[in-house]
Amino acid sequence: MFTSIHTYHQNLLSNTTSCEEAVKYYIQKISNNQHLNAFVEVYTEEALQTAKRLDEKRKSGAPIKKLHGVVVALKDVICYKDHKVTASSAILQDFVSMYNATAVQYLLDEEAIIIGSCNCDEFAMGSSNENSVYGPTLNAIDNSKVPGGSSGGSAVAVQADLCMVSLGSDTGGSVRQPADFCGIVGLKPSYGKISRYGLIAYASSFDQIGIFGKTVKDVALVLEVIGKNDDFDSTMDETSTFKHVDQLLIPANKKYTIAIFKQVMDHISLDKEIANAIQTVLENLKTQGHQIVEINFDLLDYIVPTYYVLTAAEACSNLSRYDGIRYGHRTNENVKDLNDFYSKNRTEGFGKEVKRRIMLGNFVLSSGYYDAYFSKAQQVRTLLVEQTEQLFKTCDAIIMPTSPTTAFAIGEKKKDTIAMYLADIFTVFANLTGLPAIALPLFKHSNGMPFGIQLLTPQKDELTLLQLAEMLQTNSEVII
Ligand code: GLN
Repeated sequence: MFTSIHTYHQNLLSNTTSCEEAVKYYIQKISNNQHLNAFVEVYTEEALQTAKRLDEKRKSGAPIKKLHGVVVALKDVICYKDHKVTASSAILQDFVSMYNATAVQYLLDEEAIIIGSCNCDEFAMGSSNENSVYGPTLNAIDNSKVPGGSSGGSAVAVQADLCMVSLGSDTGGSVRQPADFCGIVGLKPSYGKISRYGLIAYASSFDQIGIFGKTVKDVALVLEVIGKNDDFDSTMDETSTFKHVDQLLIPANKKYTIAIFKQVMDHISLDKEIANAIQTVLENLKTQGHQIVEINFDLLDYIVPTYYVLTAAEACSNLSRYDGIRYGHRTNENVKDLNDFYSKNRTEGFGKEVKRRIMLGNFVLSSGYYDAYFSKAQQVRTLLVEQTEQLFKTCDAIIMPTSPTTAFAIGEKKKDTIAMYLADIFTVFANLTGLPAIALPLFKHSNGMPFGIQLLTPQKDELTLLQLAEMLQTNSEVII
């Protein structure tokens, strides 16, 4: 049973296990857990071949690289050369990547083994993994519950021990919320920390690749490997404080000032047990000499509408490339003209939620409504960024819940779009402002499901984020 990359490497070096043994173990577990529907495709033969090659290399005395033999799963929106990438959409059925995403290339350079691609909400739009052409992924703790979304498959792959770590994407919470629902660690770095080259675009000014793992250290190690500059993504920013996993230990006397938002902690949607558990964390931090400050956050009720207006606008533009000519699905119906051809390709290829966002995006960008919706939402985003910059002049980090509830039942919110969107109330803030954020599993609810806390730090300060997360994870009794 896998506990950490460090222990796995020690076992490899002392010959008590091999990469091949690890891959065989995961292939077997994936096959025993097919009902979870976490994987879209499993690269069985290829992963075994890579494992054997790595074993031989190591046994011949070659030094091991940072992710030697680490078994990784990818969300089905991340390009892996010569492998299918479909964004869990009918429109990209059978589409094969022509190149590696930079993050994937960095993983391979450090000798990781990619075991398969994971189910997700179509084009990463959703909070429950129910919007996939492959059907829903199930939460491994309770199969009647969603795993969260949109990176539900990648989260369950780690949760159910079907791989060691996985990559997802987080545009409005799609790594952190499923991590929270599944009881694992989920990191969304600052905007610009991990290259978006080879990540299928949803809303480009929000999208970030994120990392799932069982421990903060494993997640930090993967970030060390993939969070590096890339000439193919001009929004990259290399000035992050975090460079190396060895930086995680905090000097014993270091004290932090941590903010909480009054409106978040008092929010009507927040489950009382989750609110109380967060209070316990805050009390513990105070006892250890850290300072907690309560801040007013008047804009809370505006952030979900702002997020959905802006992401829909970006999505309708990004998704216009799927026209059936250059990419993906082409209709078999007779067509009258070019417009009819586009229309049939897109009508048949896209699912309901994606269509809703394309229509919403075109609506908020249309001449009659641009000022009322798109411009206003951009103004709110600017205000949020400015207020956040001010806030971080007086504190080091923010603590809040990741999600207002634990994992909900499959089908519970599927018909109520607004309820589904409101499930993102505590995660979209980090994407609107570009802040790094991490979901940490710390508790088990009386309903049996896991939940934790979310930590946020200033832009590019992954170091403080990961140090605090490591401190909280080692100080607490982790549930999985
Ligand atoms: N649930 C959010 C949405 O549907 C977030 C998705 C994401 O982060 N990819 O937009």
